[in-house]
Amino acid sequence: MFRKTSIISTLGPAIFPSEQISKMIDAGVNVFRFNMSHAHYDECRQVAKHIRQHAEEKNKNVALLFDLQGPSIRTGDLDEPFILKVGDKVEFRKASAEAKLPFSTTVNYEGMMDDVEAGSELVVDNGTMLMHIEEKHGDRIICTVKTEGKIGNRRHINLPGTRLNLPAMTEKDHNDLALAVELGADFVAGSFVRDAAHVNEIRSTMEKLGGQANIVSKIEDQEAVKNIDDIIKASDVIMIARGDLGIEVGVEDLPLIQRQINKRCHALGTRVIVATHMLESMITNPTPTRAEAMDVSTAVYEEADAIMLSGESSVGEYPVRCVETMDRIARRIENSGTMGNGALVELSEDKEQVVKAAIGLANNVEDSQIVVFTKRGLMAVQAAMFRPSAMIHAFADTEETCRKLALCRGVEPNVVPFDEDPVSTINHAVDFLKEKGTVKEGTPLVIISDVLRRNKTVDSILLVYA
Ligand code: PEP
Repeated sequence: MFRKTSIISTLGPAIFPSEQISKMIDAGVNVFRFNMSHAHYDECRQVAKHIRQHAEEKNKNVALLFDLQGPSIRTGDLDEPFILKVGDKVEFRKASAEAKLPFSTTVNYEGMMDDVEAGSELVVDNGTMLMHIEEKHGDRIICTVKTEGKIGNRRHINLPGTRLNLPAMTEKDHNDLALAVELGADFVAGSFVRDAAHVNEIRSTMEKLGGQANIVSKIEDQEAVKNIDDIIKASDVIMIARGDLGIEVGVEDLPLIQRQINKRCHALGTRVIVATHMLESMITNPTPTRAEAMDVSTAVYEEADAIMLSGESSVGEYPVRCVETMDRIARRIENSGTMGNGALVELSEDKEQVVKAAIGLANNVEDSQIVVFTKRGLMAVQAAMFRPSAMIHAFADTEETCRKLALCRGVEPNVVPFDEDPVSTINHAVDFLKEKGTVKEGTPLVIISDVLRRNKTVDSILLVYA
């Protein structure tokens, strides 16, 4: 049985060895994610080579996603970590300013002092320490500690509800993007994307470097949630990055925001990833908590395109078991019926009407499967947005397009050469599926195409029997 939901696995020491990569692909990983916050370039080159080699040997479309660190605010280096109690005062200052309190650290974003307001909240180290901003000065802010804890070197700072004027991309992001292009990235993810202009900047910078990856926008703060429709329209994929988002918005709002973003992505025809803490306890345990199993099942039930492993696969003790667990839950839920978000799709072009008609046909012809011929993958993504119950076989004439379709719900991508003669292209594809054993003699196939004639794009729907 084919699994519809794609699985993304974050790379890290736990799966860097080549044989681990091989096992992860066998277990069902569709996309590997390089978290550029922790990446070493030579390691990236080596791992990317292993992934490509294993995928080729196994004849699988496995994509590479490079997740840029983005403009995050970090504390400076300390001689000794600060051990902080409730009520302690901590100073965050510009690099040029002198320390005036015993607990004083610099921040890497000078504009922070202008952006924040006294009275708001500051969160250190991914939600582990909460502080209240008491005083704001030109070169520093003074905070009161609300929950005890420790601050070490270069800890991440969140400022829930504060509109930050950070640039879309840092110098590090520019360098990391160049590496992503060098390694043939299929997806590039932008962190802390706050509006459509940020998405466009990442895309145009990448294109100037010669890259053709799909752009993934990570939704991580309130500003992004406010601008969600514009960001969705400018992006190829949205990632609901719940790690940071869960700090930036109230945790009680997170489930509603997840559902809402998911629905808007369906309506506007953009793929969506649900990410972070999906199987967190499996970093150290061989089985998930029941709540985690529910969380994965909710994302699958709500018809996300992909679910993602972060620390579970990068540094966890059971990376392969995590993929197997996601795989089992996804198949089980997909088989028992899902939300039906296909009905939400807002049609804006005639082409989408053609695709919708084809999906309607497939839904009404018993045991049918869908075949889409697509040059850049767009028609296959559109077909998938209607969330048909039938499987979608996408045929493209390049591996690049097929890898981009590795992150698309319900789509199984295949490479076939396109012929001048459309009938022969269809015959090739049908023979291919029969040989692969995916369709049987006589299986009804609804064929959607916009690439059958080289010099002319012709949209067509056919019903054929294998
Ligand atoms: C997240 O915050 O959920 C996320 C995916 O981003 P990162 O892992 O880069 O913090």
